[in-house]
Amino acid sequence: MKISYPKLTELEFRNKRVFIRVDFNVPLKQVGANYEVSDPRRIEEALPTIRYVIEQGGKVILGSHLGRPKGQPNPKYSLEPIGSYLSGVLGKDVLLTEDCVGDAPRGLSHQMRVGDVMLLENLRFHPGEEENSPEFVARLAELCDVYVSDAFGTLHRAHASTEGLPKVIKQRAMGFLVEKELKFLAPLKENPKRPFLLLMGGAKVSDKIGVLECFLPKVDSIVIGGAMAYSFLAAKGFKVGKSLCEERQVQLARKILKGAAARNIRVVLPEDHVVSLAFGDTQNVSITQGIDIADDKLGLDIGPKTVDKIGAALETAETVFWNGPMGVFEEPVFAKGTFEVAKLIAQSKAVKLVGGGDSAAAIVQAGLESSFDFISTGGGATLEYLEGKNLPGLKVLEIVQKP
Ligand code: AMP
Repeated sequence: MKISYPKLTELEFRNKRVFIRVDFNVPLKQVGANYEVSDPRRIEEALPTIRYVIEQGGKVILGSHLGRPKGQPNPKYSLEPIGSYLSGVLGKDVLLTEDCVGDAPRGLSHQMRVGDVMLLENLRFHPGEEENSPEFVARLAELCDVYVSDAFGTLHRAHASTEGLPKVIKQRAMGFLVEKELKFLAPLKENPKRPFLLLMGGAKVSDKIGVLECFLPKVDSIVIGGAMAYSFLAAKGFKVGKSLCEERQVQLARKILKGAAARNIRVVLPEDHVVSLAFGDTQNVSITQGIDIADDKLGLDIGPKTVDKIGAALETAETVFWNGPMGVFEEPVFAKGTFEVAKLIAQSKAVKLVGGGDSAAAIVQAGLESSFDFISTGGGATLEYLEGKNLPGLKVLEIVQKP
């Protein structure tokens, strides 16, 4: 059975109203009374698809969510700053609708001229978006003739705009961003060049455990940093003090360690830590000599010995996938481990892929983007895809060819 997805270049766009589901859920910063886009990567990544539809004579209708407004209009989550940014980079007016559905956007969709761009206000201002309600799907369907799926970071959600709408719009395809994500991520699942090193950090063991389990038959080394590491160290009997660590996560870590040992996979865990007395305490910071952490302290970054050890592990790798920061990198005193590791990966000869907003942000902040082969725009979606889970927004596009 062969599975493929319809491509953008296979569709006819001339004079059509084209709904492009984009992921404009980008970080904003407050400037005076207004908000501005602070990291435009996801908007920039959507431009090739938008430009292509314009060039092909389509009328572009963009739909996205932003933040978690919980089904209510909320000016804090308006797409207004995104519309301004987009208008600047496209060099044309982008009309932001007051509401994403209803008479006004429907009327406007019929008045649009070829090449016009309309940005719908936050889809999550309506509860029907996350509930995937047929009524809300029908209201979105009134706006378009063609559907393009380009919000890779949201494909793991069965929402109205990601799953319900493409079900009812028969002329549909994935956009260039989704196509690119699959092009880079699929080989990781299927046939990564070995030795393959998986580097995981961040805080949520439960979110990442599935990926670790799935990759056990394919990896040669696993490196664990960030808060996740304490569950693994606790599972091995080390003292982790007040570090973030829950019994359930320790059990999951134990399972992974057992699976890795059975397969002779090298597992690299922190050998020293940057610690403090409390979360947010940037005054009483020190570096431990060894692996154990005193009862009154908690680990907030990996230490220099650990960085060296990760560097040594990276030397032989031919493929590296990195997800999750090595410490609380939002706080400069606990950011060194993450940035050092980003640099070490950048210098390695391996094929280098990254998933997850935090690791991607660290790479961008360090100016190392060009050294990486691919930086995924997805966090949860990337992990679920790699884990082999069905992504509802992708499943709905599937073309299944029987042998
Ligand atoms: P995740 O979403 O699971 O990738 O987790 C990312 C978050 O993990 C970031 O906000 C980091 O600040 C946090 N983090 C990383 N290391 C630690 C740590 N040692 N203790 C607490 N939080 C951490």
